[in-house]
Amino acid sequence: MHVMVLGAGLAGVTSAWYLNKAGFDVTVVDRQSAPAMETSFANGGQISVSHPEPWANPSAPMTILRWLGDDAAPLRFRPQADWRQWRWSAAFLRECLPWRTERNTAAIAALARYSREQLRALRQETGIDYRHQQRGILHLFFGKQGADEPARRADALARLGIAAEPCDLERCLAIEPALARLAQPLTGALFAPDDESGDAHAFTQALTRLLQARGVRFRYDTPIHRIRREGGRVIDVEVGRDDGPREHLEANAYVMCLGSHSPLLVAPLGEYLPIYPVKGYSVTLPVVDAARCPEVSLTDEARRIVCSRFGDQFRVAGTAELNGYDLQIDEARCRNLLDWVDSNFPGATDRSAAVPWCGLRPATPSNRPLIGKGKMINLYYNTGHGSLGWTLACGSAAALADLMSGTRPTPDFPFLATRFD
Ligand SMILES: Cc1cc2nc3c(=O)[nH]c(=O)nc-3n(C[C@H](O)[C@H](O)[C@H](O)COP(=O)(O)OP(=O)(O)OC[C@H]3O[C@@H](n4cnc5c(N)ncnc54)[C@H](O)[C@@H]3O)c2cc1C
Repeated sequence: MHVMVLGAGLAGVTSAWYLNKAGFDVTVVDRQSAPAMETSFANGGQISVSHPEPWANPSAPMTILRWLGDDAAPLRFRPQADWRQWRWSAAFLRECLPWRTERNTAAIAALARYSREQLRALRQETGIDYRHQQRGILHLFFGKQGADEPARRADALARLGIAAEPCDLERCLAIEPALARLAQPLTGALFAPDDESGDAHAFTQALTRLLQARGVRFRYDTPIHRIRREGGRVIDVEVGRDDGPREHLEANAYVMCLGSHSPLLVAPLGEYLPIYPVKGYSVTLPVVDAARCPEVSLTDEARRIVCSRFGDQFRVAGTAELNGYDLQIDEARCRNLLDWVDSNFPGATDRSAAVPWCGLRPATPSNRPLIGKGKMINLYYNTGHGSLGWTLACGSAAALADLMSGTRPTPDFPFLATRFD
């Protein structure tokens, strides 16, 4: 069976990998000239199984209200004359109900645990190199939050089968000596020893090379304009450069992995996907003093900033903006990230050579990705991974390949429109 994967980001390329392994004949189509050139290009690098709690949780509405009007706040909401933004925001508020947060957290945790296993197996099978680190993730707390939040989180994670240990400063310094010069006193920390980090862009590009060697076809520079249907079936996708001729590409089945752009392509088919772009920023800096620069991936829980070390590069990422599909880089946002690096790890990196970037997280209100089949008989989804697309990539794609092969996937996760009789 010939499957066409639409999109060559993390979701698309990992889907191609597990579909190829399951025996499908696969073609991947993307508008860029290489894989992982959009949201999967320069993310925070964390395989963060220890952060399954979605943005939509009971404390989110008050936090967001407090941040309204503050341009330096980790989250910025810019109202648009766009019904999709309002519909998404209303659904987000609904997901903040305690029982929904609990259900979403459990589902994400199950998929994240499975995904890390799949990533490790893939690494072992292929020897793929993407500057990964298996040194855990250290969550840092400042101010009042540090007093009891690490212990509360550790208990909650233990119930989900995820190891995490509250730490004092001495233990933190043993795990990551570069924390010795933090700008603000640390009031608490949580260490998740099984978490990992790595460069998602390098991973996606290396996996693509392996797929090409296995006979998977990649069509780059191929913008998709339209998905055409006949009755309940997709018959082809219409592609072509804006100024060139159009072509129709056919397959037996199609997998939607277009990230934040997924809902735009399926809306004309009568399918609504609850995905909205949530913009985030990163800066990548060369390391100039390795001893002062963290090796262990960190999360600053107060400022919602994460960082990861990729060899001689240091990446720091954060911020969330609901601002439509705008991809302009706001220098003030990048400056905040750079100031965070300079104040906490002085002398570690070269600020003058920092490379700024922004990308659009394909976020669902619940933070649960959409995996499985929608209304069309031969159109599948693996999209909407929001802030956890790297963490969930391998597990989501392996589960999708199972679903398309008629097998029940391992994780206890609400896959779309799946019937196992
Ligand atoms: C600042 C930031 C930090 C992050 N940090 C982390 C982290 O530490 N850990 C983590 O787990 N996740 C993180 N994420 C989230 C993660 O990066 C995303 O969830 C993930 O990259 C989404 O992958 P994707 O394949 O769905 O989308 P994309 O990577 O955007 O892929 C979609 C592909 O579709 C193609 N495309 C789109 N429209 C068309 C069209 N019309 N025709 C043809 N091709 C098209 C694009 O070219 C692109 O290649 C972060 C995200 C951001 C923004």
